[in-house]
Amino acid sequence: MSEHGRIVFSEGTVITPTVRLQADLVVEDGRIAEIRESGSARSGEHVVDCRGLYVGPGLVDMHVHGGRGHDFMTDDPQEVIDGCEYHLSQGTTSIAPTGLSVPIDEMRAAIAATRAAAPDCKADILGYHVEGMYLDHEYRGGHLAEYVRDPDPDEYLPLIEDHGDFITEWTLAPELPGSLDVIRALRAAGIVAAVGHSQATYEQMMAAIDAGLVHATHLYCVMGGLRFEALRDSPGRGYAPGVIEAVLLHQAVTTEVICDGFHLHPALIRFALMCKGPHRLALISDAMKGVGLPDGEYFIGGQDCLVAGGIATIKARPEVIASSVTPLIGMARHRRR
Ligand SMILES: [Zn+2]
Ligand SMILES: [Zn+2]
Repeated sequence: MSEHGRIVFSEGTVITPTVRLQADLVVEDGRIAEIRESGSARSGEHVVDCRGLYVGPGLVDMHVHGGRGHDFMTDDPQEVIDGCEYHLSQGTTSIAPTGLSVPIDEMRAAIAATRAAAPDCKADILGYHVEGMYLDHEYRGGHLAEYVRDPDPDEYLPLIEDHGDFITEWTLAPELPGSLDVIRALRAAGIVAAVGHSQATYEQMMAAIDAGLVHATHLYCVMGGLRFEALRDSPGRGYAPGVIEAVLLHQAVTTEVICDGFHLHPALIRFALMCKGPHRLALISDAMKGVGLPDGEYFIGGQDCLVAGGIATIKARPEVIASSVTPLIGMARHRRR
């Protein structure tokens, strides 16, 4: 067998889906070829000494807004490439650049730029994640109020028509008028329909799941949960579940958490894992362009954000966390503080 394109990651702790073990991991042409006994490297092989290190597959980040000063809400393919290659340098090999609430023409331009970037990017660009614009106003989090709106088929249908094969996921609030039609259109196009920035009732969530909703974006964050008020219109007695409980309860829905140590109490992460299991729960970075750069001020989604001590906030609304400044590997490394 030719040694061309063959690398032995030697004597590290190899992480597999079921066990972790001391071993040599052999990669051939970018793919894992075999796992050998630790210390098996032969002369002539290209060996990377991994003693004292973990060795695992490349990370997949399905929700990320930018990196090292580069924003994925752009019409410049080079900007997408540079942002994705920052994340590649941090171990993220597959990535879905993610946009936020903007005018539809800007969203279209960002998707087109990401499409154009994909063939030239060293990271594997999976497609584009549309996070916006059909979000709940009160639960919009870092999104700019003027760009958050109800679904309009005249804008979303042509976008799905042109880029349905490239959009990986679309995050929306199912309680808005017309959202179920968006979910049906997404399902028909093979796009993951996700609930996010939402205060839907349990009944509205059930209708959304029936229409084809299959994922929940950054579980718990700007997401409605258990509440008494819902009962005023509810046939039930006592407290009523919201989006969070519907997502945790229903196995048709997968979800994701931001594990940077700032967004979520550790018990919430354990609770999500207990309800969903490892196969229905993903880590995401939700990182913005300030990740990989020093603390400071960054202009994102039409507003100023402040980054200080590992946390990003909206300057005009300091109580609002504005995505994260931790790459995905930082989420994987996170331990309870
Ligand atoms: Zn969000
Ligand atoms: Zn986001």
